[in-house]
Amino acid sequence: VTEDTIVKKLRRRAPLIGDDCAVIPSPHNVDLLFTTDFSIEGVHFTRKSTAEEIGYRAVARSISDIAAMGGKPLYCLVSIALAPWTRPRWIDGLYRGIHKMLRKAKASLAGGDISHADQLVCDVMVCGFVASGKALLRSGARRGDILYVSGPLGGWRHRPVVVPQLAAGRKLIGKATACMDISDGLALDLHRLCNASKVAAKLDSIPLLKSATIEQALHDGEDYELLYTAPPRVRVPGIRIGTIVKGTPGAITFRDGPVSPRGYDHMRATTTISPQ
Ligand SMILES: [Mg+2]
Repeated sequence: VTEDTIVKKLRRRAPLIGDDCAVIPSPHNVDLLFTTDFSIEGVHFTRKSTAEEIGYRAVARSISDIAAMGGKPLYCLVSIALAPWTRPRWIDGLYRGIHKMLRKAKASLAGGDISHADQLVCDVMVCGFVASGKALLRSGARRGDILYVSGPLGGWRHRPVVVPQLAAGRKLIGKATACMDISDGLALDLHRLCNASKVAAKLDSIPLLKSATIEQALHDGEDYELLYTAPPRVRVPGIRIGTIVKGTPGAITFRDGPVSPRGYDHMRATTTISPQ
């Protein structure tokens, strides 16, 4: 079982599920955006990271999903299960990191829950907004569109500080046909965008972070750059990496060879999914 098969099943009863955020219409000319992300000890971080880094990253993951929709974050709820090893000073550090990211994103902490568990678990829910009907979805890419990323890639080993691309996302409103953030590696996330849009993609070049390899850019997680498409006549900022083409939905090629959509899947730490 993979993350994508679980999401597919959920969509039968709740068809809105499956983008970076849930998009909920409101009566005030805006759509509300909701997203929630876990940060779990041993899965998303180890105790080698500082408390402040863990808190900062936990919030950045959710803020990045708001950026992927072209939205602005407003409020966040943070629920924490403390582990037996956590001490008051460590918890202070965690909240320092949480507030540091929230200040950068101009959002605030509105509540949450505190409990305990065997490992530290932190769940960050962020609520944001975007003008009605303007949210950038994964499903609008069309054959002939150009494929872009907002910055160089390489995965978590090469990117110590996560910077959610809020400004870049907002600039794409009304221009990009599809958008998502790269959290699980370019190959797997592009496969997801192509599946949602029922198209295939051809990668020509991949911009790399210093000392990163193509393999890491394709298959390592936690870049948090935006991946998006726009028609050739529409000018958008970013780095051009390929084209949307006709083909089996979800299929990706790089320099004319097939790319397996392998990346960080939470149901199998590293997995290969065949394009369906
Ligand atoms: Mg995302």
